[in-house]
Amino acid sequence: MKWLPLLDQYDDLANLQQHCLQCHRCSLRDNARGVVFGDGAPDARLMFVGEAPGVDEDRLGKPFVGAAGQLLEKIMESVGLQRSDVYITNIAKCRPPGNRIPKKDEAEACFVYLVRQIELIQPRLIVCLGALSTQYLVHNDAKITVVRGNVYEKGGIKIVPTFHPAAILRDANKKKPVWEDFKKIKELYDQVSTSKNEPQ
Ligand code: SF4
Repeated sequence: MKWLPLLDQYDDLANLQQHCLQCHRCSLRDNARGVVFGDGAPDARLMFVGEAPGVDEDRLGKPFVGAAGQLLEKIMESVGLQRSDVYITNIAKCRPPGNRIPKKDEAEACFVYLVRQIELIQPRLIVCLGALSTQYLVHNDAKITVVRGNVYEKGGIKIVPTFHPAAILRDANKKKPVWEDFKKIKELYDQVSTSKNEPQ
């Protein structure tokens, strides 16, 4: 993937986080308690990208800690993945009012942070949780119901879209396909964890 060279003056994740915590690039910051930058291993091979923080994430300053986050951890554990092995973040780092999906201008304003997070963490595998991150990282017309479970590759990074865990909480029929996707994700994770991290 050829990422735009924005924010490249921030050459480590902690510096980027400090910068992001002060961000007011879009109006989402006006109603949020704070910026939820991301959480996990700074050298993780596997990165999860969701949509935006919810009320619990906004309160605790950490992504995926509410009901959807707890479900995500259970699904991960069911295939042998631990939260401590991965890095988790969102397209938008501030909570949208009423937990709505981030608007286009908000997501675009925030996407530069995700680009730099990916450049600094250098994951070998990214899992898009839901439609928004799939549209930003796979294709802007991608429909999650069509592309979920597929494996894409950009710039040496494998990308797998699946349903957002919040979608499973709303519709139990999505549980089985997500579990199938996670079995594939674990296989890919094992592959990228044993291969050398060579530039593509
Ligand atoms: S959502 Fe992103 S771009 Fe908007 S204020 Fe928060 S950190 Fe900045």
